[in-house]
Parts: sequence; structure tokens; C-alpha cells
Amino acid sequence: MAALSQPQKSTYDVIVIGAGIQGSFTAYHLAQRHKDTLLLEQFLLPHSRGSSHGQSRIIRSAYPQEYYSRMMPDCFHRWQQLEAETGTTLYRQTGLVLLGPLGEPELEACRRNLGVDEVLDTTALARRFPGFRLPAGQVAVVDSTAGVLFAGRALQAVQEVFRRHGGTLRDGEKVLRIEPGATVTVTTTAGVYKAPRIIITAGAWTGAFVEQLGLRLPLQPLRIDVCYWREKQPGSAGLGSVSPCFLTLGLSQAPDGIYGLPSIEYPGLMKVCHHHGSPTDPEKRDQAPSSAPRPDITILSSFISSYLPGLETQPAVMETCLYTVYPTLSLHLHTLAPQNTPDEDFILDHHPKFSNIVIGAGFSGHGFKLAPVVGKLLCELSLGEEPSYSMAHFAITRFPGVLGDAQ
Ligand SMILES: Cc1cc2nc3c(=O)[nH]c(=O)nc-3n(C[C@H](O)[C@H](O)[C@H](O)COP(=O)(O)OP(=O)(O)OC[C@H]3O[C@@H](n4cnc5c(N)ncnc54)[C@H](O)[C@@H]3O)c2cc1C
Repeated sequence: MAALSQPQKSTYDVIVIGAGIQGSFTAYHLAQRHKDTLLLEQFLLPHSRGSSHGQSRIIRSAYPQEYYSRMMPDCFHRWQQLEAETGTTLYRQTGLVLLGPLGEPELEACRRNLGVDEVLDTTALARRFPGFRLPAGQVAVVDSTAGVLFAGRALQAVQEVFRRHGGTLRDGEKVLRIEPGATVTVTTTAGVYKAPRIIITAGAWTGAFVEQLGLRLPLQPLRIDVCYWREKQPGSAGLGSVSPCFLTLGLSQAPDGIYGLPSIEYPGLMKVCHHHGSPTDPEKRDQAPSSAPRPDITILSSFISSYLPGLETQPAVMETCLYTVYPTLSLHLHTLAPQNTPDEDFILDHHPKFSNIVIGAGFSGHGFKLAPVVGKLLCELSLGEEPSYSMAHFAITRFPGVLGDAQ
């Protein structure tokens, strides 16, 4: 435990709050630039109470939004660098198939941004990936760069290199209070620290946490069921560990937002989940009644019986994880313009009133792969440098009324 082995010290160049994948990469970039950095985490590490735990996340170049797909070469490169720096394997290339109706705008945008011409129909997909059945009228686009990031291992690796670069990680230490000023004072359950700059990357806790800074961010934590489905005949029918990852697209036509990964975490069990969940409070997520209806399981079972007939149709293992999304904007866009994608963009910005406080939040279920670049951007923002990418989509002020009491 870092707190026991490192000497007590109270003043730093930068303090980062929250040691999930985003805070840990941010702290790593700062330490790499020789900034004396303190990374604070409320729970003892490793823990499974946030969004960065578990063993697998999809990494893909395919994005409908060009501004994310443009970041992906940099992300792949930085994940490789982390592998080299720690001598750890963090990525397995599996490829990914995007499934959706022919002509679906998001699917087309992914194909364009990937720069691929090929579109597989039902027969071509079955020939290439025999585990998949595609209904007539649906097609597949292949992202061959994609694969699986070993999430838990990756989180430990980035924290390890952060420490190696001289960073201080204190876990089991919850931040209770922040007092803004030219020097920011951070009070935790174990001490008081000061720094001229702080960065908040508190995952699903961010919305409630920044209220003390007069911010009202429309962030909604969602409880996501993470489901694993048993192969009927292990290793057969092009499924299991040889399967590519997949993702369904198509807002107006079900099944949208279902994704899957090969049997890597648990032998013979494929991970297939729905990119939607139920609103929760991260402090109360375990209070969900076990008898509550599980519409996501019904949707997933039905999807599996049609698209992945080599899997059993009831989950063999279920775990939970947290997403952080924007309910207001998502609802607004669905209501007014159902053809649009809901805003699943991140918040990467300065506090509108306290410019030495930077916030990274709202990673909406797709932020893990992008963490090396997110960390770099948060580091650049905090140090007052020109960000490496356009920040136009990540501004905090795109949400009306965020300033609340701070105005
Ligand atoms: C089921 C699921 C599947 C996903 N699949 C993918 C995928 O395939 N590909 C992909 O790219 N992304 C995926 N994601 C998204 C990705 O995992 C998240 O975007 C990412 O992990 C968010 O990281 P974070 O650091 O913001 O949050 P977290 O990991 O939750 O970290 C925030 C940390 O802040 C700490 N904290 C909070 N408050 C305080 C406090 N007051 N004091 C100290 N510490 C505090 C918390 O304890 C926590 O450790 C998925 C997410 C889920 C849940």
C-alpha cells in the first residue's frame, strides 16, 4: 500500500483525485513531465467499485465521430509504449465486426473513418466468422485493428509507471473537501494537501463531488450488467476465444448497442452486454432489488438466439460496472431528433470559474481505450499548454446551467 511505504508530504505541483484509468493516465503524463504529482483514491487498490475494473475492454479504431477515430492511432501507440515500459501484455488483437442495417448512418460513418470499402453481407460474414448469423438486410464492417485491452492489468501497469516516474499514489484515502484558490487545499480522510493545480477524475462520483465547487453537471451514473454466456460446445462454431469482438449499431432499429468480446476472461464464456443500464447512485448500487425486472437480459437473450446461436441463452456469470452518462442531453436529442446520436462525448475542461481546477468526466461507457490520450489532454489543460487535439466537443459549458451557485 502506497500510503504506508511513502513519506508524508503535503505540497505537490498537481493533485489528481480518483485513480481509475483516466486519473491514473493523467497522473502518469504529469509525472513523466517531472511534475510532483499526488494521485488520491478513496478505496484500497485494486477495487471493483468504479468503472475501470474487470479484465477486458474493447479497443477499436472504428468510431462514427471523426474526432475520436483521429485519436486512435495515438492511443494504440501509447498502449504499446506502456506494454514496452512494463514488459506486460495489455492488448490482444482479435478484430471487430460492426453489425447494422445496410446504409445505417453510424455504420457508414465508421466505415468511412476506417477507410475500408468492404461490406460483408450475411453469407460473406458467415464464411469469414462462422459463429455469427446476420438477418437479411443487415451487414457487417470489419475493423481489423481492434481487439481486447486487459483492463485490470492495464490499470496496474499505468499506476506502476506513474510511481516509477516519481509519482505518489495514496489509496484508501477519500477526498472530502476542496477549497479553491491560487493554491487549492484538498482535505482527505487522512490529511490535508496543497497544490497550485488539481484535476478531478472521480468517475461516477464526479457529479455529486463537484457540487461543492458550485457545479451542476448533468451526469447520471448507470448500473450496467456485465454478462458472460456459455458456449454450447466450447471452442466450436467460430465462437469462444477465436471470435472477433462485435458491436451493433443502428439507433432506430433494435438491437442497438450490444457488444461482445471473445472468451478470454472465463474459459468458454463470451462476454456479451448491452450498452444501456439503470440509473443508480454509486453509493447505493448494491441496493438494487434482485427481483427487479431485467429488460437488458431479455434483450441480450433474444439477440443471442438470433445472432450467436452457438451460445446458451441465459447468462452463466453476471457482474456489475458503472457508466456515467448525460441523461438530460440524451433525452433531449432522442426527443427532438431521433436520428441523431445522443451526446456521449466526454467532459475535459477547466472549471468555468476556477481555471486551476480541471475536470475529466462522463466517459459514457467508451472511455477506456482513449485513456492514454484523455490523460495527455487533461495534463496539457492543467499545465496551460495547447491541447494536442481540438477540445470543441468536450467543453463543460455545452450544458446549460452548469454553473449553478458559482455564477
Ligand atoms: C460494463 C462496462 C463496459 C465497458 N466497456 C468498454 C469498452 O469496451 N471499451 C472502452 O473503451 N470503454 C469501456 N467502458 C468504459 C470505461 O471502462 C470507462 O470509461 C472508464 O473506466 C472510466 O474511468 P474513470 O477513471 O473515469 O472512472 P473510475 O474507474 O470509476 O475511476 C474513478 C475513481 O475515482 C475514485 N473516487 C471517486 N470519488 C473519490 C473521492 N472523493 N476521493 C478519492 N477518490 C475518489 C473512485 O473510487 C474511482 O476509483 C466500459 C465501462 C463499463 C462499466
